Parts: sequence; structure tokens; C-alpha cells
Amino acid sequence: MEGESQRNLSDSRRNISKKDQERSASRLERLASHMAAVPLVREAQLARQECAKVKIKHQVHVSTLVEFLTQGHQSEQEKVYRFFLERPHLQTPVEIHKDKHRELCMRQLTAVVREAGIRPMELLLNDPASYFVFTEAIGHIDLSLAIKLGVQFSLWGGSVINLGTKKHRDKYLAGISNLDYPGCFAMTELHHGSNVQALQTTATFDRLTDEFVINTPDEGATKWWIGNAAVHGKFATVFARLKLPSPDSHLDKDMGVHAFIVPIRSMEDHSVLPGVEIRDCGYKVGLNGVDNGALRFSNVRIPRDNLLNRFGDVSRDGEYNSSLPTVNKRFAATLGELVGGRVGLAYGSVGVLKASVTIAIRYALLRQQFGPPNKPEISILDYQSHQQRLMPLLASTYGFHFATQYLVNRYAEMKVTHDDEVVADVHALSAGLKSYITSYTAKALSTCREACGGHGYAAVNRFGSLRNDHDIFQTFEGDNTVLLQQVAADLLKQYKEKFQGGALSVTWNYLRESMGTYLNQTNPVVTHREGHGHLRDPNFQLDAFQYRTARLLHTAALRLRKHSQRLGSFGAWNRCLNHLLTLAESHIESVILAKFIEAVNRCPDKDVRSLLKLVCDLYALDRIWEDIGTYRNQDYVAPNKAKAIHRLVEYLSYEVRGVAKELVDGFGVPDFVLRAPIGLQNGQYSEYMQYVGF
Ligand SMILES: Cc1cc2nc3c(=O)[nH]c(=O)nc-3n(C[C@H](O)[C@H](O)[C@H](O)COP(=O)(O)OP(=O)(O)OC[C@H]3O[C@@H](n4cnc5c(N)ncnc54)[C@H](O)[C@@H]3O)c2cc1C
Repeated sequence: MEGESQRNLSDSRRNISKKDQERSASRLERLASHMAAVPLVREAQLARQECAKVKIKHQVHVSTLVEFLTQGHQSEQEKVYRFFLERPHLQTPVEIHKDKHRELCMRQLTAVVREAGIRPMELLLNDPASYFVFTEAIGHIDLSLAIKLGVQFSLWGGSVINLGTKKHRDKYLAGISNLDYPGCFAMTELHHGSNVQALQTTATFDRLTDEFVINTPDEGATKWWIGNAAVHGKFATVFARLKLPSPDSHLDKDMGVHAFIVPIRSMEDHSVLPGVEIRDCGYKVGLNGVDNGALRFSNVRIPRDNLLNRFGDVSRDGEYNSSLPTVNKRFAATLGELVGGRVGLAYGSVGVLKASVTIAIRYALLRQQFGPPNKPEISILDYQSHQQRLMPLLASTYGFHFATQYLVNRYAEMKVTHDDEVVADVHALSAGLKSYITSYTAKALSTCREACGGHGYAAVNRFGSLRNDHDIFQTFEGDNTVLLQQVAADLLKQYKEKFQGGALSVTWNYLRESMGTYLNQTNPVVTHREGHGHLRDPNFQLDAFQYRTARLLHTAALRLRKHSQRLGSFGAWNRCLNHLLTLAESHIESVILAKFIEAVNRCPDKDVRSLLKLVCDLYALDRIWEDIGTYRNQDYVAPNKAKAIHRLVEYLSYEVRGVAKELVDGFGVPDFVLRAPIGLQNGQYSEYMQYVGF
């Protein structure tokens, strides 16, 4: 008996060590594949039970797809991934206390800048497209890190560079870039968030000492939520009302909101400087690696030179001068320079969506549940309902990717040309895409969690942290509802000023033609056409999107005119607010579709092009179906056509399901970055089992 049990034990040890070896070998293989960015396909693993198989009609080369999506930036992302792969001590664990997370984030940031030799500030200045690609990769490592990095370089650095002049760049740029000068962007106050023009902090010029005196006049003016303030920041760009003493009045002259560099902690010992009070905003729903703080100022004196004076300056004798004639123009110019943060959030939100959709789809392929009698169970992605849930999300992710890629390129163009038309376009586009995409991603995260059943609820599978960390993307850098109103206002401005003969800015150009179609009667033959060729024709799809926007724009303008007579412009705007928000969203959907179609057309690889065309069709028709009531109400689509659209959406979801694995592999997020054990490429439960200790 003893001999037998010893034999069993050594057999089982042999088995275990063999298993261990296999496991290590498989890990190594996986790591190698991450680094080579070549998806690892093991036929035996991927083979599904018979009734789970779906015929794949599309030939897909994932590496070609990745190449097309990353547009030459793949190696930059890989550099970030490799850096963290080689430094496990810098990876954020699933469970981590706020204070430790903040310190880890600072160490991660310092390591990226000082060890990996990546200089985000220089990237942002010289190659914005690379900067945003890099921050997407950083966001995959930890969203707290991405936001902390954004605060340091895009907000604090960006405000000094864009709102200051040469003297500021000479003095601060190097220290910001190498992290010697960690800083904050102190705009929001307790009583004023979205309404930046009403901020109450004051900066009063003292002619005797040639200084500004910064004050928090009341509780409501306390700066709140300021990233990097609670622990690490040494400086802050403080937004305050510039006040000039007036010779003929006891009241100071209010020159509106300006930005000032205010040191908040000592360079020597990091102690808080006199007159500055800092409190910790505490534990948040997410992003706990970022140290948000509240700030108060009491007679804090800063040199006159600390006014970021690109758009307005004060001379030694207290004279104000600016090339811009009004407070409103200066304010718009100041805020206009800060759009980079919004571009980054829109782009980063797509990154979050990619991760989330990847996990949900890989899990849906792995998970088999129920099936026909006496047959193997089927993958849950073979349920029509599951396809309907996830395939449009996947299609939207592709659409958003191309739209934000366009936005980033326009932003880079704006930074070079400073062309007024481009500036206006980037401003409205970044507001619209940021709000539309972040709202969409926030909802999609819940859908993806739900699509993974109970396992979606395990923290290790990432939905909780992604959802919590991403949620605030809808609010900061401009609340989404407020930003969409800027888009609507811009559309109406263009409608009023330029519609008759003037040039519309590039992204708006379609409106002229669509307005013509809209104002004419819709063609009854077209409203009944239901063939696949017609429904999958990009001209029909674009026309449907743009027709809807043109109609909303025209009717919004009419309604505003009618209501403003009685309610005034503010009241009329509020009366039409829901209509205006729908208009803005509709416009943004039109832009997304247009950019998606352009991407399909310029794709050089025939197979990838046909794959993307399939996904684009699903995006377009799903959006039309989602708003079918509007199209039916306008008789743009007859009942037979509406039914045909619905059938086609279901069919396309089924077809996309057949290539869903390849489509998520195309996002190129390596397993060790994605980290969710249920969402790994190998399509197995083994990592999940290991996580709980088996
Ligand atoms: C984690 C975190 C980090 C942050 N980091 C920074 C930072 O580093 N620096 C900084 O300056 N700020 C920062 N902020 C502040 C952030 O920018 C503000 O929260 C944001 O601008 C919104 O302001 P608010 O919170 O006062 O909301 P409000 O503007 O009061 O909005 C509250 C609600 O009212 C609605 N609402 C407001 N106005 C309108 C309107 N006109 N029409 C319709 N609805 C309206 C909004 O949609 C929203 O639902 C941060 C915030 C958080 C939570």
C-alpha cells in the first residue's frame, strides 16, 4: 500500500511538475507573442464544440489590421507595454489602498520619464499624434497614471506653454518635462465648475510691489478637485479674476478670468507655502491614484511675470493691454488653447472601450452555456441577443477609433497652422467627440460587465475599475451636457452666418447639401428601397445620418426663433435644450460615420477593407435602426424599409460575430496589459483558476 501511495505521489508530482513546465512554457510563449504583437493562435485551443462553430467568410490577417489601425504608431505603444512588462513592481495590483496607489502612480510616472526616456511634454509639443497614442497605451496600464500624466503635461504644462509666452517656457518647460516641477491646473471652484467665466478667485495687481495678490474671497471660491494638489504638486496654474486698482474708483477693475503660475509647495522641503491651504479631496469612486486636493489662498504674492500673458498683459505701471478687444474674446481664446485635454479624453475613452469590448467578446467566445438537446453547449456569442448586445459595440469602437484619429490629426494640423477655420473645427469636434464617446463608453462598460455574467463582477476581470475610473471622463474637461451645447451653438452659428453662400468649416460642409435634400420632399421610391445593395451603400447611410442632422438643425433654429420672442434667448435655449442636445449628437454621429467610410475607402489591403466595410455597415445601420422612429416620422423610411434595416442589422451582427475574435485582436492590447483572466487570447479558464489559487 505504502509503495503504491508513494508511486501515486511521485506520479502526481511528475504530473504537477510537467503541468508546471507546460504552464511556464505557455506563459513564455504568450509573452513572446505579446511582444511580437502577433496573435497566438493554437488551433486545438480555439476549436469550438461543433455546434458553436460559425463559418467565417472573411479572410483576416490580424497583423495587417493592427498595422492599418495604428498607422505606424504600433512600436510606440509596444515600448510602453514592454517597459511595464519588464517591471512587475510598477504594475498596479487589483487591490490597492488610495495612498499606496498615489505613490505608485508617481513612481510609474517618474519611471516613464526618467527610466524609459519618454518625454511626454516634448511629444505633446512636437508630435501630438504620438502623444495621444502613447497616452492611450499608458491608460491601458492604469487610467490613474494616464490622468496624472495628463494633469502634469497636458494641463499644467499645456497651460504654461499655450497661455504663457517665451519667458514662461524658458523658465518652466524643462522642469515640467523632467518632473522637477510637478504641477496642477487649478480652475474649478466649489461653487463654479462648468461656468468658468464666473470663477471668484482674485488676482489683484499691486503696483507698489509689482506683484499680483491671490485671494480666495469666500468659501465658494475654494479651488476643488485639483489633480496633483493633495500630495505631489509644487506649482499650480490658478485661474482667477484679474483685478486692477482703478484711480477714480474705490472698486478694482475686473478684467475677467486669467491664468497665473502660483508656487504652492517649497522646492526645498515640499512644505506648503505661507498663505496657501491645501486639503485632500479624499477617497473617490475611481482614479484613486490621482491626488485631488482643495486649495485656498490668503494674500499669496506672486511676481507680475507669473501672469500667463499670451492673451492679456499688465504693464509695470498697471496698464492692461491685449490684442483681443473684449473679455469674451480673451476668455474664448484662453479656453480654446486647452482643447488638448478633451482630445486626449476622447482618444483615451476609445482605448477603454477597446479593452472592455475585448474582454467581453473573448469571454463570450470562451463561455458555452445551453444548447440543443443532446448536443454540446454553444458559445454565448452564438445567441442572437448576445450578438445584438456586443457586435454594435464592437462596430462603434472601430468608428470611434477612426473619428478620434481624425481629430488627433486635425489637432496636430491646428498646432502647426493656427488657421482660424481649423481652430474652430477642432474646438467643436473635440467637444462633440469627447462628450459623445465618453457617454457611450460609460454605458458600454455596464453592458460588457453584464455580458460576462457573474465573472464580469470579479474585480480581477477589470470592469469595476474601468467603469469607476472612466466614469468621470463624462464630467471633467467639460461636462458632456455642457459641451454638447457648445456643438449645437456652433452648428446654429454656422447655420445663421454662413449658410447663405459662405464657406462652412470642413466637418460641417455636408449640411448645405443635406439641407437641400431635407427641404425638398423625400423621394418615395427611395423611401421604399430595401435591397441589401441599397442599404449597404455608404451614400444611402451617410444621407440618412446627414438628413437627420439637417432636419434637427433647421427645426431647432425655427423653434429658437419662435420661443426667444417670448422667453428671451436664455429661456428659449432652455426650452429647446433636449432638441439641441439631440442635434449635437446627431451631428457627431454623422462625423463618425463619414470618418469611418473614409477609413474603409483608404484601406490599402483588400481583405481588411472588406472586413471594415462589414463593420462600418453594421455601425451605420444599427444607428439608423436605433433612431428608426425619427426616420419613420419623417417618412424618410417606409415600413418595409424599416423592417429590412432591422433584419439586416441582425444579419450583420451575426456576420461580424464570425470575425469578432480577429476584430478584437486587431486592437492589439496584449494580455498582460489587459490582465482580465476571462479575456485573454488563449480562450481558456486556466489563468482565472490560477488567480483564485488552484
Ligand atoms: C476626479 C476629478 C478630477 C478633476 N480634476 C480637475 C483638475 O485637475 N483641475 C480642475 O480645475 N478641475 C478638475 N475637476 C473638476 C471638473 O473639471 C468639474 O467637475 C467639471 O468641470 C464639472 O463641474 P462641476 O463638478 O461643478 O459640475 P456642474 O457644472 O455643477 O454640473 C453639475 C450637473 O449640472 C449639469 N449642468 C450644469 N450646467 C448646465 C447647463 N448649462 N445645462 C444643462 N445642464 C447643466 C451638468 O450636466 C451636471 O450634470 C476634476 C473633477 C473630478 C471629479
